[in-house]
Amino acid sequence: MATTTLNELYVDKLKDLYSAEQQILKALPKMTKAAAHADLQNAFETHRRQTETHVQRLDQIFDELGKSAHGKTCQGIKGIIEEGSELMKEEKDSPALDAGLIAGAQSVEHYEMAGYGSARTWAEQLGFTEQAQLLQQTLEEERETDQLLTNLAEQSANPDAMTGSVDADSELADMPRPRAKPRGAARKETRRPAEDR
Ligand code: FE
Repeated sequence: MATTTLNELYVDKLKDLYSAEQQILKALPKMTKAAAHADLQNAFETHRRQTETHVQRLDQIFDELGKSAHGKTCQGIKGIIEEGSELMKEEKDSPALDAGLIAGAQSVEHYEMAGYGSARTWAEQLGFTEQAQLLQQTLEEERETDQLLTNLAEQSANPDAMTGSVDADSELADMPRPRAKPRGAARKETRRPAEDR
């Protein structure tokens, strides 16, 4: 009885994660396009490719379980992604956009880490050792991405959000930026309140 219940919870969690990964696959290209820093664009693109692998691992697990991956919408990730879409509209051309994008992406990673952590433990306890290993691999990649995003925030996105401009001399922003002008305009605006203090 108890095993049946945990089994159901496990499959339900896997469906939730499957839906989450599908939504993230759609959101990441938009985030890559919106990001100002080249290294953040690269991080998002790398994670999009990783996410394809995460979907493949889940497909493999569903195959082994003889269950369908479909039939559930992950409402948690849906909400986080909606918040990200709002941010991209509201902070368009703002020097703080990348810092906000990173915070949103880290909310996604933490949600996924919690989900994969539970699923991994349930797989272990249900005796699905190989599935537990697959889920652990994805969990580690989500954790690495989270750490990479922390580094990018601390090294470039947050300092730029504080000074009000993307540092063009920084090797972290070495790609030509089509939005150079709006960013310059935004810098003047953000500096005004500081001068008034
Ligand atoms: Fe992820």
